[in-house]
Amino acid sequence: MKLELNIQPLESWIKTGKEPLVIAGPCSAETEDQLVATAHLLAQTGRVSALRAGIWKPRTRPGEFEGIGSIGLEWLKRAKAETGLPTAVEVATAKHVEEALKAGVDILWVGARSTANPFTVQEIADALKGVDVPVMVKNPVNPDLSLWIGALERINNAGITKLAAIHRGFSSYEKSAFRNEPMWDIAIHLKTLAPHLPMINDPSHITGNRSLIGYISQKALDLDMQGLMIESHIDPSVAWTDAAQQVTPAGLVEIIDHLALRKPEVRDAVVNDKLAELRSQIDKIDDLVIQKVAERMQIAEKIGQYKKDNNITILQVNRWDEILNKRTTYAKALKLSGEFTEKLLELLHSESIRKQTEVMNKDQAGQAADKLTHA
Ligand code: PEP
Ligand code: MN
Repeated sequence: MKLELNIQPLESWIKTGKEPLVIAGPCSAETEDQLVATAHLLAQTGRVSALRAGIWKPRTRPGEFEGIGSIGLEWLKRAKAETGLPTAVEVATAKHVEEALKAGVDILWVGARSTANPFTVQEIADALKGVDVPVMVKNPVNPDLSLWIGALERINNAGITKLAAIHRGFSSYEKSAFRNEPMWDIAIHLKTLAPHLPMINDPSHITGNRSLIGYISQKALDLDMQGLMIESHIDPSVAWTDAAQQVTPAGLVEIIDHLALRKPEVRDAVVNDKLAELRSQIDKIDDLVIQKVAERMQIAEKIGQYKKDNNITILQVNRWDEILNKRTTYAKALKLSGEFTEKLLELLHSESIRKQTEVMNKDQAGQAADKLTHA
């Protein structure tokens, strides 16, 4: 099933000539000087297509800096007039939409906390009716693809066709190296449902840590995402919000310079033929691997039956150690990494144990049921 979104290409509303497409700017507009000076440095890099800045900040806890408010729109106007950079801000209410449009903001985005609330998204969508402005929709804070799709549909139904999705990761209770888990599968799923919907990655909010931004950016580009939104501040060490994840404009250039740009598809027939040939070799080998794994499992079942008949435990630690040692040595000689081989063997072993347990207990479940009916 594909999503029915009426979308115009990214090129129709933002300069995509510079590769990769980068939207950059501070997490929050703090002072006129901070915003305008950051904008000048970003414009001078020649690598940035639009200037972002949070004017109204949705904060998880009260008492934190909640954004400078409408006055920041005037600063954005000045930044745009002096640098020529189009501007982008987050909107979370109908009033924000009206004020941003009145101030000539070029691109609006819906933040992760807003996307999670259909009432909020609908209010924004209603305020956008009859307006021709590009809107980017961040994924919701929770890993729920339907909420993300629902928000895109509501905005699109309001007549907004200059639409993009922003992948900024999802909150998770598990401890992790990232502020928000990327959960790439969810973003890829959306891409397969809406192949024409541009997707922009936000490595700043995924990582929460400037040292990991390059790594996530590369991964996003390798997954054929169309652009990056990266928080950049003239002096991140004194930023009022998200200090740990912001980079200086010079830091931004360094990140971009280290990114490898790979092509999503190949147009060259010779390259295509060679790729097709290699892929068919891989397909054949994969079939063989699966066939051999199935044979291994059949033998495991036989062993299970034999152990059952002779009252032997399923797991024999010595035997497992022996498999692990012999196979990792062999695999190393064939240039497979020890870590990979261990993982693969563990996976095979745990499935064998599951099969053997099934064989061992096949009759027991029946006997237990018998006991119950005869009790
Ligand atoms: C932001 O872009 O500064 C922001 C608040 O992001 P998110 O909505 O992804 O948390
Ligand atoms: Mn931020």
